[in-house]
Amino acid sequence: MDGPPLISQRTFDRDIAEVLIPRDRIAARVDALAGEIAGRYGGEDLTVLAVLTGSLVFLADLLRRLPLRVRIELVRLRSYRGADAAGGPVEVVGQLDRGALVGRDVLVVDDILDSGRTLARLGDLLADAHCRSVRTCVLLRKRRDDLPARRDADFVGFDVADRFVVGYGLDFDDMYRNLPDICLLADEPRRGRP
Ligand code: 5GP
Ligand code: MG
Repeated sequence: MDGPPLISQRTFDRDIAEVLIPRDRIAARVDALAGEIAGRYGGEDLTVLAVLTGSLVFLADLLRRLPLRVRIELVRLRSYRGADAAGGPVEVVGQLDRGALVGRDVLVVDDILDSGRTLARLGDLLADAHCRSVRTCVLLRKRRDDLPARRDADFVGFDVADRFVVGYGLDFDDMYRNLPDICLLADEPRRGRP
């Protein structure tokens, strides 16, 4: 059958070293995760607060697996990462519509939990937003034995090694988000360690 060519690792041929989590494993886990989330909310309406841009692809797949009445809110965050070990602030880009969260069961959805600073920042932002409840969901959670007290998530897709991953929404320099698998780069960027 003719059609547009499918995106594969070959699209980014020279850049990708290895597929860490292939698309079929992602799809199966997103299914199961949606079941866990639906079970926790027991038929209540849910407001998904998605952290852009990294959660975009995960969000689209997860939403369509959730057998709940779902509203969507978006927040765009940007974290500055320098070479210094402390890391920079997590900045809100644009406006978070806090009014839309009042009295709601809110599920924050992000792509990956690393230092936990992003989820902590959102926790602060939502602390006085009068939500009915706030829980968090990430597709990936990095093993960071050096941060035993880091902010955790309520729902986690996969635990992964402390490596820099791209694909399925995750970028390097805003590239590779459309890669359907979660991959390691041939030239793994060295990053500041927040
Ligand atoms: P945290 O605030 O928990 O340190 O990091 C969360 C954010 O950092 C994620 O939303 C993501 O944007 C970015 N991030 C952390 N680790 C990775 C990674 O391995 N790959 C990519 N592409 N982004 C990452
Ligand atoms: Mg992000």
